[in-house]
Amino acid sequence: MDLRYSESDEAFRKELRSWLDSEVPAHGRPPSEHDWPARREYDTAWQRKLYEAGYAGINWPKEFGGRDASLTEQLVYYEEIARANAPYVGVNFVGLLHGGPTLMSEGTPEQREKHIGPIIRGEEVWCQGFSEPSAGSDLAALKTKAELDGDHYVVSGHKIWTSFAQVSDYCELLVRTNPEEKHRGITWLAMPMDLEGIEIRPLPTIVGSSEFSELFLENVRVPVSCRIGKENDGWRVTNVTLSFERGTAFASDIYQLQESLRELTRLAKVLTRDDAVAWEDRTLRRDVGHLAAELDGLWALVKYMVSEAGKTGVPGLTGSCVKLYYTELKQRLGDLSLRLLGRASLSRDDVGGMASETIVYEALQSLSMTIAGGTSQIQRNIISERVLGLPREPR
Ligand SMILES: Cc1cc2nc3c(=O)[nH]c(=O)nc-3n(C[C@H](O)[C@H](O)[C@H](O)COP(=O)(O)OP(=O)(O)OC[C@H]3O[C@@H](n4cnc5c(N)ncnc54)[C@H](O)[C@@H]3O)c2cc1C
Repeated sequence: MDLRYSESDEAFRKELRSWLDSEVPAHGRPPSEHDWPARREYDTAWQRKLYEAGYAGINWPKEFGGRDASLTEQLVYYEEIARANAPYVGVNFVGLLHGGPTLMSEGTPEQREKHIGPIIRGEEVWCQGFSEPSAGSDLAALKTKAELDGDHYVVSGHKIWTSFAQVSDYCELLVRTNPEEKHRGITWLAMPMDLEGIEIRPLPTIVGSSEFSELFLENVRVPVSCRIGKENDGWRVTNVTLSFERGTAFASDIYQLQESLRELTRLAKVLTRDDAVAWEDRTLRRDVGHLAAELDGLWALVKYMVSEAGKTGVPGLTGSCVKLYYTELKQRLGDLSLRLLGRASLSRDDVGGMASETIVYEALQSLSMTIAGGTSQIQRNIISERVLGLPREPR
């Protein structure tokens, strides 16, 4: 693996940087935590802009409208997107980062034709209906049932933590089609969200957002043509989806942490505490140093993962190491920011040119990251059993 940037990578960086300099919107995402239609409009408009400029689906094959960038170009892309503070992928997350790739791998030609173009152009938004009240970590324990009736599945059940449900067109829905078999009784459906019998109830989060919802499904008739893969083969398809979710999906967010640490260091040099500049505090400087070194290590791990994905087509188990390390570091960065702010974190004041609210929001938001997409404990299980080959936990 040679991950040094070549002259052509640097030329790509220059071209992308100058495009981002002129195109990144001056106004951020609409601030209301509840106006999801406005947020959808903002996120999908940015996606469309990326698409028209040839920067959407950086790792997607050209035949699906992507850029098919080389591995090192992908890394340059993630670095530049983070550096330019370009809009977050937002409501396009599920479709773009694992729904679309799952269809490329498992969908029929008709299914790919139907969804992949609209996803990459920002015309179709997806959500993920995997988790249920008693099936999160133990996902295969899911109970939402689907019974075949002619050319439809009749689906009834209860999903939870469904991010962006209220503005989605399709849902990656896992259903039980065989109650006798745990893993081999699951089917993966691309469910249209406008069908009769779907009720969406938003759930409030610690940051006051309504980013995710509960889904109540009652006799929802989903056409069989929406099935991805074979009936009862959904667990295998799910593992393809999850490997994308835990893999490259986070690359630019990870690089963003380095930017956040630089911002924190800048703040520490201008904020005063007890009549001294915060940066005079040796403990704080030591903690910043540790985090900087660990973030470098994490970025090296991302490079390794991207390189692995290039060989196999999916990010593989390194994705679990990256997910674990990234989310834990993000929380530690959040803790350090709150320590730096001290009492200012209780106010909404401007601190050193930045709203303290923004810093507090990031710190609180980071708490959810070690749960979403598979908890830290589960990632540790995967790493110990499947990467290190340690004995399986008693089940
Ligand atoms: C911000 C956010 C967004 C989300 N978005 C979505 C979404 O869009 N779609 C979706 O389907 N889901 C979504 N989720 C749900 C998420 O995937 C689940 O919360 C997660 O998988 C954990 O499941 P659980 O909440 O049922 O916890 P549980 O499985 O009940 O776990 C509770 C605790 O027990 C631990 N534990 C469980 N089993 C083991 C074990 N074998 N060994 C060691 N420890 C164990 C867990 O690590 C955890 O600490 C989201 C969650 C969050 C926080």
